[in-house]
Amino acid sequence: MLNIVIFGAPGSGKGTQSERIVEKFGLNHISTGDVLRAEIKNGTELGKTAKGYIDQGQLIPDALMIDILASVFDSFKDSKGVIFDGFPRTIAQAEALKQMLKDRNQEVSIMLDLEVPEDELMTRLIKRGQESGRADDNEETIKKRLVVYHSQTAPLIDWYKKEGKYQHIQGVGTMDAIFNDIVAAIEKL
Ligand code: AMP
Repeated sequence: MLNIVIFGAPGSGKGTQSERIVEKFGLNHISTGDVLRAEIKNGTELGKTAKGYIDQGQLIPDALMIDILASVFDSFKDSKGVIFDGFPRTIAQAEALKQMLKDRNQEVSIMLDLEVPEDELMTRLIKRGQESGRADDNEETIKKRLVVYHSQTAPLIDWYKKEGKYQHIQGVGTMDAIFNDIVAAIEKL
């Protein structure tokens, strides 16, 4: 199985590139942000809990996220592989993912780090907020999410380097050029 972690700051293009990877390689897609937004839309208890954190630009507690991830992962049958989009976001989540995959005789194949400069992230997210109306894409919350990214999520770059899974991807340029770099990295596996 091909287990791909797509990584990067909010606005780095993880969702967009994930869709193309899914299409090309026939993988299943887990976007933890999408899962949480669906729960909010459906008015579930989980959605109510998640909304409080998301609106503040904070992360949902690890234990909760890890349970959600395992249950979505186990719902895939005869999967060729999975793309993890927006997970892990903390070292604890990365360790849990490693263990979860190990328990199923699997491992992360590669971690793709989409790197985009901070001013570009800000511009993209504000534009996305205007177009999609996503509640957390407003300037104040974006700033908080970027602080959270740097303090809690960016340490995963070194963590995956140590695991020997890290692959840098230049996240600026045309969508096609970025996608071609991603495909080349996956095809080298
Ligand atoms: P995203 O769509 O990936 O940008 O996620 C939107 C929001 O959902 C984040 O700002 C977090 O509040 C929450 N979230 C998504 N994935 C995770 C995760 N793996 N761990 C904790 N919180 C998450």
